[in-house]
Amino acid sequence: MSILRARFLRLYVVLLILLNGYQGFMVPALAQRNLSGMPEIELALHKLNVLGSVLMIAAHPDDENTALLAYYARGRTMRTGYLSLTRGEGGQNLIGPEQGDMLGVIRTQELLAARRIDGAEQFFTRAIDFGYTKTTDETFAKWGRERVLSDVVWVIRKFRPDVVILRFSGTPRDGHGHHQASAILGKEAFAAAADKNRFPEQLRYVRPWQAKRLFWNVFSFTAEQEKEAKALPHLVEVDTGEFNPILGKSYAEIAGISRSQHRSQGFGAAERRGPANNFLATISGEPADRDAFEGIDTTWSRLPGGEAVGHILAEAERTLAPEQPEKTIPLLLKARPLIAAIDDPLAKRKLEELDETLALCTGLWLDATADRYAAVPGSTVKIEIEAINRSHYPVRQTGYGLLGLNGAKVGEVWIAGPMAYNEPVRREAAGLIPPGTPYSQPFWLRKPHAGDTYDITEQEQIGLADSPPLLNAEFELDFGGTRVRLKRPVQYRYVDPTQGELTRPVVIVPAVAVDFSEPVALFPKESPKKIEVAVKANTTDMAGELRLELPQGWRAVPASQPFRLAQTGDEQALTFSVAPPREDAQGRLRAVAHVDGKEISTGMTAIAFPHIPPQTLFPDASAKLERVNVALTAHKIGYVMGAGDQVPDALGQLGCEVTLLSARDLAEADLAGFDAIVTGVRAYSVRPDLRANQQRLLEYVQNGGTMIVQYNVAEGGPFGGRRTGELAHIGPYPFEIGRGRVTVEEAPVRFVEPDNPLLVSPNHISERDFEGWIQERGLYFAEKWDPHYHAPLETGDPGEKPLAGGILYARYGRGVYIFTAFSWFRELPAGVPGAYRIFANMLSAHGAP
Ligand SMILES: [Zn+2]
Repeated sequence: MSILRARFLRLYVVLLILLNGYQGFMVPALAQRNLSGMPEIELALHKLNVLGSVLMIAAHPDDENTALLAYYARGRTMRTGYLSLTRGEGGQNLIGPEQGDMLGVIRTQELLAARRIDGAEQFFTRAIDFGYTKTTDETFAKWGRERVLSDVVWVIRKFRPDVVILRFSGTPRDGHGHHQASAILGKEAFAAAADKNRFPEQLRYVRPWQAKRLFWNVFSFTAEQEKEAKALPHLVEVDTGEFNPILGKSYAEIAGISRSQHRSQGFGAAERRGPANNFLATISGEPADRDAFEGIDTTWSRLPGGEAVGHILAEAERTLAPEQPEKTIPLLLKARPLIAAIDDPLAKRKLEELDETLALCTGLWLDATADRYAAVPGSTVKIEIEAINRSHYPVRQTGYGLLGLNGAKVGEVWIAGPMAYNEPVRREAAGLIPPGTPYSQPFWLRKPHAGDTYDITEQEQIGLADSPPLLNAEFELDFGGTRVRLKRPVQYRYVDPTQGELTRPVVIVPAVAVDFSEPVALFPKESPKKIEVAVKANTTDMAGELRLELPQGWRAVPASQPFRLAQTGDEQALTFSVAPPREDAQGRLRAVAHVDGKEISTGMTAIAFPHIPPQTLFPDASAKLERVNVALTAHKIGYVMGAGDQVPDALGQLGCEVTLLSARDLAEADLAGFDAIVTGVRAYSVRPDLRANQQRLLEYVQNGGTMIVQYNVAEGGPFGGRRTGELAHIGPYPFEIGRGRVTVEEAPVRFVEPDNPLLVSPNHISERDFEGWIQERGLYFAEKWDPHYHAPLETGDPGEKPLAGGILYARYGRGVYIFTAFSWFRELPAGVPGAYRIFANMLSAHGAP
């Protein structure tokens, strides 16, 4: 055992956590973690010799051409980035009920997971995916064209790509308005980034940048498209089917694995083998015919004084001894001072890469772990710091420090000593989290949205994919007289008995988290209602008082309640009786915990899926209050959960008793006891048991039941190619689901059959009930239907033919069958009053004349 290991140091430091600063884009030290050993070292050495970079621009998570990213990042070892204008907040979630901001957090992490596989870096603008839109007009009106353009310019100036690749053409053939906008803004930003008169406020941090060439990555999904692409002049062809023996895969195969991280979109993708052609057409800059980088110097010679560096690093690559990579270190150390002397952002970046390569060549393990993943302001976290030299190269550790978010050193220990082969050197530090430290809400969600963009005021945070780690450990090491500093995030490391060793980010949490059981409290009648608030302790001995704050006209009994929580993790549910005003009213209800002389009104929501690191969000402890008269004759509801939605909770708000129907229930239970059975979104795609028991459900309808089928989608790729007719048999009479949607949430709705029971009973529906909707009217409307169906409503986007397939209603036997493509799964959880009244009529349809 080494002397160092025996001498355990204890260090108490005050961690100055300044959330506002940030020191530049992170070097993706973890980006290659799915490679290891010799391939990782070989690629790192190769990359040191390549000074080219490429940035791809599109609109959403999943728009990117993952195979091209893998080709440039892993194959050509270029610095490669993907700028997605949005985080994909407006899509549909196929793995859970999360929508909006929460879905954006999931998709952000899915993109980061994909990038760890294909080796590219990830960036975003402040734009929010507000849902499907057909036009750039709506897109620019909602985002603010200049705001998003400035973000694209910013990322270009910061990333400094040689080549920019647009995924879309900027014309209506791209489909989605966001897709078109991404190319329009990409073209504009290509020029604007080089113009010092555009967005001059950014020049405090970055210099103007002129990328050499702008490409459009022409669509080639079909043979037809490929033929069209090949007819274009100045076309670069890239075969991403090329096999890379170091990686043991082709780029298209890597793309399949990377793309399959988009689980919330259900984009599991095949790992394609054989040739895979991609086409890049020059839009701006010198036309290219053979290679995207032709005529662009991507060697060290592009930097003043770089030539000598190039020679040394080429020798390092050539002489690498697979059994003894540490033998390469002297050459790396020879190049290091030459690189350090070059005053250029690219050289600075290469220096960081070189230092990480030194670590790779010595099998160096550097790690910093906290004793818990959640800490409250004012508490102390124990941090264990560990370094192991797993080579015979004589590395010496000379110290380490802890860095707060602004990069400032918040504590350090200086220890000099050799690191013996494979001998862990461990230190312990303890850090005080200052009282008043903000909770770890993702930086883009700290303020309310500014329309359809995130309100991020710190210029340096714009473009970042994720919040930087709360704390970093910085290790200072001596390689043959050269001092090198390497950074690692402080994280929580734990072992899950079923999944093995895992890590998760360390977060700052409130002392008590206050959460309403539901985001909306609906009062369909004048009577008071019980509302539950959970108080959860994030530290020991929490005692206080919880008070409800209500708008005028609303009352809570009692006005406040005491709570007492002994242990961390203890939770107490407090129930209040809330009485609404007599008339229709809306407002917000807030819960405030008074504890230790402080007021806390913050909740805590965890997002946990196996393919992404656990995420924690800190929403306000508030709920929407909605007083609206809703008559309802149904009470017992069976619900067949599909891909995941919050409609069952919403039906609970109406006073329904909701049973989630299992496969066994569908096959065996007596369904006759249900007043209505509702299928969740995309249920026919994800519940084979639903398809299997279709006949039983239709018999239930025939015998007097009411069945409501929410939107489903005929499967197919993101760019079409659905299997038509596959959902033709989900009703008692045939109908066909198309891809029609109404994306404008204010789109007028026409009452085609004003006397249809769904529009008159028990609630009389008027245009008012279609006010205040969010995001869209509906999606995947029915296209054709049997004459037994009635279609009482019609709605359409501006300038388009109205669609009548939003609700189909048919009497069948003694019961009623309803198909509905309106977006109830968005409107009900958002507390849209009209949506509740119409849905109540659908549930009550069995009692209607
Ligand atoms: Zn898209």
